[in-house]
Amino acid sequence: MGAKELSNEVSQTLSEGNVLNQKVLYLCGNDANYTLTQWAIWMSGHIAVPLSPLHPQNLLEYYANDSNAKLIVTTSEYADLIQRVSKNCKTKLLVLDDKLRQNASQMNPVKQSDMEGGLAPDFYNKSNAMILYTSGTTGQPKGVVLSHKNLVSQITCLIDAWKWSEKDTLLHTLPLHHVHGIVNALLCPQYIGAKCINTNPDDRRISVYMAVPTIYSRLITEHQKVFSSDSKMVEYIRTTLKNKLRLMVSGSAPLPATVYEKWFEISGHKLLERYGMTEIGMCLSNEYDSDRTPGYIGVPLPGVSVRLVRKIDDGEDNYLNLLESTNVKGVVNTNITNNADSESNPVGELQVKGDNVFREYYNKPQATEQEFTIDGWFKTGDISEYSLKEKKFKILGRQSVDIIKSGGYKISALSVETQILEHPAIADCAVVGLKDDEWGQKIVALVVLKPKTETFNIEEFNNWAKSRMAGYCIPKEIKIITSIPKNAMGKVNKKELVQSLCA
Ligand code: ATP
Ligand code: MG
Repeated sequence: MGAKELSNEVSQTLSEGNVLNQKVLYLCGNDANYTLTQWAIWMSGHIAVPLSPLHPQNLLEYYANDSNAKLIVTTSEYADLIQRVSKNCKTKLLVLDDKLRQNASQMNPVKQSDMEGGLAPDFYNKSNAMILYTSGTTGQPKGVVLSHKNLVSQITCLIDAWKWSEKDTLLHTLPLHHVHGIVNALLCPQYIGAKCINTNPDDRRISVYMAVPTIYSRLITEHQKVFSSDSKMVEYIRTTLKNKLRLMVSGSAPLPATVYEKWFEISGHKLLERYGMTEIGMCLSNEYDSDRTPGYIGVPLPGVSVRLVRKIDDGEDNYLNLLESTNVKGVVNTNITNNADSESNPVGELQVKGDNVFREYYNKPQATEQEFTIDGWFKTGDISEYSLKEKKFKILGRQSVDIIKSGGYKISALSVETQILEHPAIADCAVVGLKDDEWGQKIVALVVLKPKTETFNIEEFNNWAKSRMAGYCIPKEIKIITSIPKNAMGKVNKKELVQSLCA
């Protein structure tokens, strides 16, 4: 069965008198069935809402209820679970027959051009394509409504910036319920007609790989466990990759400079870090042809405009515009509009405009209104610094949890984490600010020690820290734990972390 036949089945199962734009949930593995289902939903004129096998039943039910889904499509692999969800949420159910599976390792049995079997182009120009849920790092996941136009804009800017061609083959290992796995890693190759595969057979040539920082850091530590010496590991990784990959991307969470450097040392690849959100797709990226700078997220992608602003304390939604940067057809133009002194880097909230920016949070008009300025900029809630020297942006963290106010200083939790990760005995860490009578907030670091570390002395750590960090950035408290809790996209929920530390 192809996408067209499946789209007829979706329409028949819905049988809502041909009412279009219904929300259709789907849960499939990372294989051809996922792609066929997604395409079939679009060809039948409905809105695709992807689910993940990583999510527990209660979260699947939250998505079904929150999105007002009318139908859930799944494969027999997940049929029992989805039957329960469908019953509890009163949706229709369509279980795909296993013979539908075409080529399990080839994830793009359909291409952008196959949409020609769907409705008229005019329908897609005006319609919504997907509801993608945010990662739920700072609260309940929000349903982000993306139009077909949004998706095309998010895809084409990456195709231009990262030089996608139909000759590329991407190895897909990302979850398929999130912008990273769907837009960057699946829709880009589909749009351009490149290959997207989910296994790594030796006889194929993989040219592009994308992952979250946790994956790169696990690749490093897992290989370290296997090889007795670093030189054997370097030899193995370089031979396996055969230096054939042209692009390895990291994103969705900050990439520690230590991981960037170690990966370069062992694989010869300079990871390309980019920044994005469910609401905007990708927004800033290190440039493909220029040198990549660890710790920086680069410049706006083609068609995207960003600005850095400081909120004016007048009780209204007004901002002082510090800097504006726009990419028109690959040419980046950055204007500093307000800077206290010409030597210091502008720092402010990152706001975004462009065809990539989403329409609304589903069924949440108040949240939508709050997240846009009066003049139409989307407020990312992330604090960013523009380096006058590097001519690139850097993320300092989320305004709500990562900017710690301690002893009159504003300290970026991400910058402190970057420094701590340089310590030879520390494998991972998360820095938070806890309420404190003396400091306002005190910096607390949760650290995971590297395997085989026998002793870790806090006094020694403090001496080490004094030689490289400003005194007010050194954590007042260090807690050693076995692992940092992270969600499906490798992100740390700092609100929950703070709550658990205060409990
Ligand atoms: P929720 O909105 O539900 O709290 P979330 O913001 O984690 O979850 P996503 O849309 O998946 O959901 O993630 C977007 C966020 O991820 C950005 O706002 C930013 O904080 C973070 N992020 C993405 N890429 C990077 C990066 N390269 N460096 C630092 N942070 C990043
Ligand atoms: Mg968010």
